[in-house]
Amino acid sequence: MKIVRLKPGRDKATRRRHPWIFSGAIDSVSREPDPGEDVLVTDANGMPLGVGAWSPTSQIRVRLWRFDEGPVDGAFLHDLLARALAVREGMAERFDTNALRLVNAEADGLPGVTVDRYDDVLVGQFASIGAERHKAEIVDALLDLTGAASFYERSDLDVRKREGLEPTRGLLAGPEPPERVAIHEGPVRFEVDVREGHKTGFYLDQRENRRLVAESAKGRRVLNTFCYTGGFGVAAQVAGAASVTHVDLSGPALEQARRNTALNGLPEAEFIQGNVFQELRGFRDRARDFDLVVLDPPKFADSKALAEKALRGYKDINILGFKLVSPGGLLATFSCSGAIDAPTFRMVVAEAACDAGRRVRILRELRQAPDHVEALNFPEGLYLKGLLCHVE
Ligand code: SAH
Repeated sequence: MKIVRLKPGRDKATRRRHPWIFSGAIDSVSREPDPGEDVLVTDANGMPLGVGAWSPTSQIRVRLWRFDEGPVDGAFLHDLLARALAVREGMAERFDTNALRLVNAEADGLPGVTVDRYDDVLVGQFASIGAERHKAEIVDALLDLTGAASFYERSDLDVRKREGLEPTRGLLAGPEPPERVAIHEGPVRFEVDVREGHKTGFYLDQRENRRLVAESAKGRRVLNTFCYTGGFGVAAQVAGAASVTHVDLSGPALEQARRNTALNGLPEAEFIQGNVFQELRGFRDRARDFDLVVLDPPKFADSKALAEKALRGYKDINILGFKLVSPGGLLATFSCSGAIDAPTFRMVVAEAACDAGRRVRILRELRQAPDHVEALNFPEGLYLKGLLCHVE
């Protein structure tokens, strides 16, 4: 194995089992490795620290697969994946669902590898060159461990370009998945388009938050912004919401939201295709209010550099959101920008409440569902943050 030696004093994070080695921490390389090749990382004195994949075009130059010396082969990856599944033992039953995240990249010791299960179909993303290189072993091991029928790849990710890889998608194993895969979260049913849907097809990370919001939805008039395929609103309507208004820019997402509404035998909801920022202003100008407002925007900040601009976006929609909540109503507000941490998000929401002239109490602090595991050694893995607010 080729050897990557770190600079003196630059081994602390690795010793704490953080899986990323940045280019600036590297002192020397024994011989130039191929892209994705597994290399042995040592401290400045040549003591082995671990084995990881070489990414010559990324700032994160090595992503570690293991923190000891040894091969990254089929048996090793099979064992890692078995551990990832063991962490999720019993979750499908506990959350009463057939859709679960099985592999959550760095947090499961598998940098760049994300795999979700939708019923009998596994859908995977391979974001880094190291993940790409071990793709076949990972797919084989997961099919073996889960007994799932198919593995569909959704590596249509721009981040792959930073790794010198082209975005790609397609069937890797088993029969073609159905056009729409039927999943359920408790009593709520959804259809997932694993070929064209966002990410791997659905926002599984919001599962527990959908359930929590639904618990408070009975008899309330619900506004579900950034609704995608219906998520929060469909769950709220199943739980007895008085009415649901969905807003999204995407026509196909709204079409699927309609289908999901019908699938649950619900009466028609209101579907608005438009820009949430404008639609919220429109509601405000027409003095239309709601008893429960959900704000679940896409990632506004892709990097720390963009965080400042993103904060203005979050503040804007939260001001508008607060203004639309009837007295005694609820606001569920989220940020999935990893570059914005929970205290910062909370501060922005607090400022928005002030500007909107509302007195707000936090009923619950929310985060990504537990199958989107977070590892203690990888704080970057917490990306989804939310607040369930009572609005006076
Ligand atoms: N809450 C959803 C997931 C939301 S994903 C769930 O539980 O499944 C974010 C959604 O915001 C996407 O569907 C995207 O089409 C939509 N979107 C992005 N920018 C928007 C904008 N400015 N106005 C309206 N919708 C927008």
